[in-house]
Amino acid sequence: MSQLRVAVVGGGLAGIAAALSAADAGAQVTLLERRPHLGGLTTSIERDGLSFDNGQHVFLRCCTAYRAFLERIGASHQVYLQPRLNVPVLRPHEKGSAIRRSDLPAPFHLALSLLRYQPLSLKDRLGLLGPVLALRRMDPRDPALDRVSFAQWLTKRHQSPQAIDRLWNLIIQPTINVSAYDASLALATQVFRIGFLDRADGADMGWSRVPLSQLHGENSRRTLNESGVETLVNTTVTSIRGSAGSFSLESNSGPVAADRVIVATPPRTAASLGVVHDTQLAEDLGVSPIVNIHFVFDRRVTDLALGACLDSPIEFFFDRTDASGATSGQCLVVSLSAADRYMTIGSSELVATFLEELHRLMPRSRDAKVVTSVVTREHAATFRATPGIEARRAAIASATPGVFLAGAWCNTGWPATMEGAVRSGNDSALLALSLGSLPISGGPQDLERVRT
Ligand SMILES: Cc1cc2nc3c(=O)[nH]c(=O)nc-3n(C[C@H](O)[C@H](O)[C@H](O)COP(=O)(O)OP(=O)(O)OC[C@H]3O[C@@H](n4cnc5c(N)ncnc54)[C@H](O)[C@@H]3O)c2cc1C
Repeated sequence: MSQLRVAVVGGGLAGIAAALSAADAGAQVTLLERRPHLGGLTTSIERDGLSFDNGQHVFLRCCTAYRAFLERIGASHQVYLQPRLNVPVLRPHEKGSAIRRSDLPAPFHLALSLLRYQPLSLKDRLGLLGPVLALRRMDPRDPALDRVSFAQWLTKRHQSPQAIDRLWNLIIQPTINVSAYDASLALATQVFRIGFLDRADGADMGWSRVPLSQLHGENSRRTLNESGVETLVNTTVTSIRGSAGSFSLESNSGPVAADRVIVATPPRTAASLGVVHDTQLAEDLGVSPIVNIHFVFDRRVTDLALGACLDSPIEFFFDRTDASGATSGQCLVVSLSAADRYMTIGSSELVATFLEELHRLMPRSRDAKVVTSVVTREHAATFRATPGIEARRAAIASATPGVFLAGAWCNTGWPATMEGAVRSGNDSALLALSLGSLPISGGPQDLERVRT
């Protein structure tokens, strides 16, 4: 039998994962990417001889598909994974706190750290137990959870505004990229169940030690080549013609013939290629921006590798010195999620505001000189994970038999993350290669059937 030809449109994490999974299963794969490099929303820019990621990208130990993907592209040694969750929490002019886990099993692994968590009153700290126990029993796939916001639910469980702002939101806003007041309870439940409550080590944090363009872009390119995938960059797919088993993709690099097509682009492009028939879908998924402000100081200003901040507009900061390539001083990035209000503020104003904030939080920075500063903004960093979102996310099988969807915006059950993107890519390849052996309608039940 001749080899199945699979075309993958889009070289972000979802498309790369789909291409590798299909190639590993024996297909002849062509990957078409609009940009000159792979990696999609995970990318880096060069400035003054240094490398700055478009946004700090963090993963958790529970991101099993993403971690397996790193292994597959030979990049596991280029990331750091905390042996044990430890997030220092800074406040201006106050003693620091931390969210860190102990050796106890879940959910007791955070008990000591939360009991000592100074940003909350003792009453609020003791009050955390009720929602923690309730979340452990909730099923993130329950459609009822997608109808309310996380903060509405917390308020009903007697959580004060301080508890919501100073603890629950500290975790939810950076993971879901909308605040606890806007976030779907379904996705918040998924984050807490899988990250914090089902296992003690689920939320140990990891991040890249090299620029993202190297971690995902270069390593993927090499692995795809080694796996026999034909990778066409600078190639924009403009149309997909044909029907089940026989497709032709038009692009500026010429036509590509395929038996199966996986469209791993953002939803608006998938709609313009005619593979998402619901014209309202992209609009309904919405977008939520992320802004990062990178500072290179002429000396070290903190000994912390990362920190969360309260009573300050800084949400999180990370030390990126090694990854940036800086050989002296220190490179810090300030990461701001759900960043709508910062999108229209000029870069120099953002730099001035956040430098002042760093001075308040890190006294050593007051004597340091800023050698370089860079602002990176991503308008459509993720979809807007508000109530109702789970019902709107797309199934992996499209309305056209033989065409499959992939992307962090598909209905993976995960927030718009690297883990969600890789899962969707793996799943789309699995379904694409099973077509013909099984009737595929595109629901989660198909994946269950294909896996068993
Ligand atoms: C600033 C920022 C910070 C983030 N932080 C985190 C984090 O800490 N942790 C985390 O897990 N996730 C994070 N994310 C989210 C994560 O990056 C995304 O969910 C994930 O990378 C999406 O991958 P994807 O493959 O689904 O989509 P994309 O990366 O959008 O890939 C789609 C690809 O399709 C290509 N394309 C589009 N149209 C065409 C066409 N017509 N022809 C050919 N190619 C086309 C695009 O060029 C792109 O490469 C962050 C995102 C941003 C922007």
